[in-house]
Amino acid sequence: MKKTKKTGTVVQAVRNNLYIMGFALRICPSRVVFSGIRSGLDQFEYLFFSGYFLKKVLSLIETGGSFQEILLFLAFTVGLFFLVFLYNGWYDNLLLPVTDVKIYQGLYRTLYQKAGNNDLSCFENSEFYNRYMMAMAQSDQRLIKTIGNLWQIIIGTAAVAVSWVMMIRIDRWVILFVIAPLIGNFVFANALNRLSYRIYEESMIFRRIADYINRVIHLSDYAKELRMTDIFHVMEKKQKEAEAGITGTMDKYMVKNILLGWGYLYFTFVIIFEGVIFYGAYRAMVSKTMPLSDFVILTSLMTSVSWILISYTKALLESMKNSLFIQNLRDFMAYEPAIPEDWDGILPDQEIRSIEFRNVGFAYQNGRMTLKNISFTLKSGQACALVGYNGAGKSTLIKLLMRLYDPTEGEILLNGINIKEYNLKAYRSLFAAAFQDGKIFARSIRDNLVMGREGGQGAGHGFGSESGRGSGSGSGLGSGSDSGLLWDALSQAGIKPVIEKLPKAMDTVLTREFDPQGAVLSGGQVQKLVAARAFFQDTPIRIFDEPSSALDPISEHDLMESIKKDAQGRILLLISHRLSCVQDMEKIIVLKDGRISEQGTHARLMEAEGEYAALYHMQARQYQKEKAFENPDFPEKGGISL
Ligand code: ATP
Repeated sequence: MKKTKKTGTVVQAVRNNLYIMGFALRICPSRVVFSGIRSGLDQFEYLFFSGYFLKKVLSLIETGGSFQEILLFLAFTVGLFFLVFLYNGWYDNLLLPVTDVKIYQGLYRTLYQKAGNNDLSCFENSEFYNRYMMAMAQSDQRLIKTIGNLWQIIIGTAAVAVSWVMMIRIDRWVILFVIAPLIGNFVFANALNRLSYRIYEESMIFRRIADYINRVIHLSDYAKELRMTDIFHVMEKKQKEAEAGITGTMDKYMVKNILLGWGYLYFTFVIIFEGVIFYGAYRAMVSKTMPLSDFVILTSLMTSVSWILISYTKALLESMKNSLFIQNLRDFMAYEPAIPEDWDGILPDQEIRSIEFRNVGFAYQNGRMTLKNISFTLKSGQACALVGYNGAGKSTLIKLLMRLYDPTEGEILLNGINIKEYNLKAYRSLFAAAFQDGKIFARSIRDNLVMGREGGQGAGHGFGSESGRGSGSGSGLGSGSDSGLLWDALSQAGIKPVIEKLPKAMDTVLTREFDPQGAVLSGGQVQKLVAARAFFQDTPIRIFDEPSSALDPISEHDLMESIKKDAQGRILLLISHRLSCVQDMEKIIVLKDGRISEQGTHARLMEAEGEYAALYHMQARQYQKEKAFENPDFPEKGGISL
């Protein structure tokens, strides 16, 4: 991610704070307005009591006003502040909690949307992750604080001016004492803020490690490994290292932190409090140049003024500090994905005539070429298998086809047009994919099949064989025909009988994380559900990446039959290590070390006696051995049926 300059200058702070204020205004304008009124009333209270109230009561006493007059003034004050109290109560207890939630939701929706649209490669970039986590962890508080702070600064400026005028009217030299808290706040607190941001930034990587370990320890995904192995201790050790990293960063800056903290306290509080009282007492009691009432008012005003100043400068400095975090949020928001979702490209034809890889090469972030010079063409309705050793680049190849990444070299064409030219969303909706590590979500089975695609089957184009699709063409969700299609998909994947038996059938929630009645599926059942998800989507291209690795032999056979039947009229790309499953495919591509080592039909590849034939023979021999072990009468040679 491109990192913009973090100068922390006043101009930058103003810009950043206004940016976030604009953000808040868009999400929740009422909060911004009422927060301003709240701030104004706070400052008014300070000045009224410490200056006007005291002065009025003392002058009534000095000028011989009646007790009734004083009582009347007190009653007016009580009434006025009861109204302020009512407003503050409403603001703090009713408005604040509701608008906090509104702002958090608005902010996180924006952040999730941004993160969801960013390139997959971002998640392999540690710096991006640090910024993402910092944006996630801090932006909500910063946003809320900025609203209060900005008002504090605007209204605080007016309050400071009024209070200074009031003090100067009593004694103009007292103003000198105000310089101390200004130094305390602007010099020392500013330096403290910058230091705390630096500590936070430097320790972010350790915080992320600690977070990751936290996740690993409490998420059910890791529960088995944690119990059956000693990985817990490895994690524990790593956790300790992360904690040491965090405390180490703090230790590194400890002395500086203490000195700055001391300077801040001394200049902000000690000098002004002690100084004014000392000066006022001298004039009132030693040189007798100040009436006692003025000394009382001055002391009271000074206390209020110092608090106003402290909260004013605190807000000002907080805004400078917020600016550093907001800059991080802005950097994150400004990141332009290389593969933008909202790219207004051309809409692809629903009829797929060809897919062509032309001299495609690809490197992940580490720069090593994972795919090299890949060229092949798939024609309309063709079924193609990708085979090869682990790590050969098969999954990477389909990720490129689905535009989860873009090629580093060469191009991929759909119907003769570079896939980068197409509208990304529309292009991706051409695919239904069952990933090797397909995930299920803690939602109903129905949601896990439909996956939020409105209309259930994407565009509902009616691709594929009639037998495979069942009836209907993907109209409104939850309709009878859609339920029919969902059941058809489950049946194709061989998991319909299991789902039918569940108490709420299709509406059963998966996992027990949120529902004690939720269904816990086995590894093979999850794989079948992921395949059913692909069957349900009515798309012209099917991708199955190792769809049967967790299935028993009968289920595997049935699923493979379903995949081939369903693929009629579509383009199918199937990755499988089980060569017996791919031998009737129209095209088999063999990948080795990121290159295509061979391609052709099963018969041609066997004839060629190359990589594919060697792999095939190896699997056949293994199968023969297993069979011979189970059944000693099984022929050692010939009659191989994989
Ligand atoms: P398998 O049969 O084991 O599933 P595959 O042929 O599908 O393997 P790929 O998953 O495409 O292989 O991986 C190809 C190579 O790319 C491997 O060396 C892998 O380590 C590397 N690789 C995969 N994903 C990434 C990534 N996100 N960042 C960096 N390297 C990656």
